[in-house]
Amino acid sequence: MDKKVTKIGVLTSGGDAPGMNAAIRAVVRTGIYNGLEVYGILRGYSGMVDGDIIKMESKSVANIIQRGGTILKTARCKEFYDLEGRTKAYKHLKKHGINGLVIIGGDGSFRGAQIFSNEFDMPCIGVPGTIDKDIAGTDFTIGFDTAVNTAVEAIDKIRDTMDAHDRLFVIEVMGRDSGYIALHSGIATGAENIIIPEKVTDIEDILDQLSEKERRQKLVNLIVVAEGKFGGANEVAKVIKERMPQQEVRVCILGHIQRGGSPSCFDRLVASRMGYAAVECLLEGRHNLFVGILNNRMHYIPLNEAVKKKQRISEDWMKIVKILSS
Ligand code: ADP
Repeated sequence: MDKKVTKIGVLTSGGDAPGMNAAIRAVVRTGIYNGLEVYGILRGYSGMVDGDIIKMESKSVANIIQRGGTILKTARCKEFYDLEGRTKAYKHLKKHGINGLVIIGGDGSFRGAQIFSNEFDMPCIGVPGTIDKDIAGTDFTIGFDTAVNTAVEAIDKIRDTMDAHDRLFVIEVMGRDSGYIALHSGIATGAENIIIPEKVTDIEDILDQLSEKERRQKLVNLIVVAEGKFGGANEVAKVIKERMPQQEVRVCILGHIQRGGSPSCFDRLVASRMGYAAVECLLEGRHNLFVGILNNRMHYIPLNEAVKKKQRISEDWMKIVKILSS
C-alpha cells in the first residue's frame, strides 16, 4: 500500500464520552486544512463493517464543539472481533480509498485498531476518549473532566440533604474497573471514604471508622464507591446496615448522567489538541500510536502499550483522602 495518507476515516467507538465531538471536529478540520479527504464512519466499527461511511466537510462539524455524545454515533461491534468482519470493514475502506484511520475510543477500541492495522497494513492513530481515565501513558482522556465535574455537582447536592438529616450516604459513581472518577469526585466533595478497585479496601476498617465517628457524634458520612468494586454502593450499604442497624444509610447511584452533557472547557481543549495531533501523526507517517498528554506536552504511545498497561493510582492520593477526611 502507498504509505502516503491522502484519505482518512474517523470514528468513535465503545462508550461515549463528552468531548468526542470536539475531537471529531479537530480531526476533520486539521485533515481538510492539510488537503486530505476526510470520511466519517458511523457507529464505530459497525459502520466500517456495514459500509456506513460519509464524506465530511468543514461545515459538517460546525456547532458541535459544545455538544455531548457523538455526531458519528458509537457502538460495540461483535463482528469486528472476527477476521471475517474485519475483512468486510477493510473492503469498505478500500472502496473509498481510505488509507488512514483515527479511532476515538477506549482501550478496547485500541485493541481492535491494533489487530486491524497489523492484518491490513492500515495506519491507525488512537485518540483516548473515555470518562474512565483508565488508559496508561496519558494524564488525561477525553470526557473524564466533564464526568467528574458532573459527579461533583450531583454529590454536592446530595450532601446538602445528607447534612440536613444527619445521614450516611453511599454514592456510586461510574468507572468500570477504574477508580479515578470515585477518587477525584470523592476528594473534591470531602468524602469520608472512597472505595476503588485499585486499592484493597477492608470493609472492617470502614465499619470501625463509622463506629468511632458515631462516638464523636459525627453523623454525616459520605462514602463514594466506584461501580466496579464490591458490587457497588448497594452491597456496601447492605454490609453497613447488617452490622450497624442503628445507622440510617441511603444509597444513590449516579449512573449515566455522568456520561452526558456539554463537555467542560478542559475536555474541549484536550480533544482539540489530541484530534489535531492524531492527523499530524498520520501526515508524518507515524502509525499505530495513540496520542496522549503527559506533563502538558503531546506524547505518542504505541497502541499495544494502552492495551497492556492500566493507569495506576498512587498511594499519595489515598493518604490525602485519609488525612483530609479525619
Ligand atoms: P472501549 O473502547 O470503550 O474500551 P470496548 O471494549 O467495548 O470499548 O471496545 C469497543 C469495540 O472495539 C468492540 O465492540 C469491538 O468492536 C472492538 N474490539 C475490542 N476488542 C477487540 C479485539 N480484541 N479484537 C477486535 N476488535 C475489538
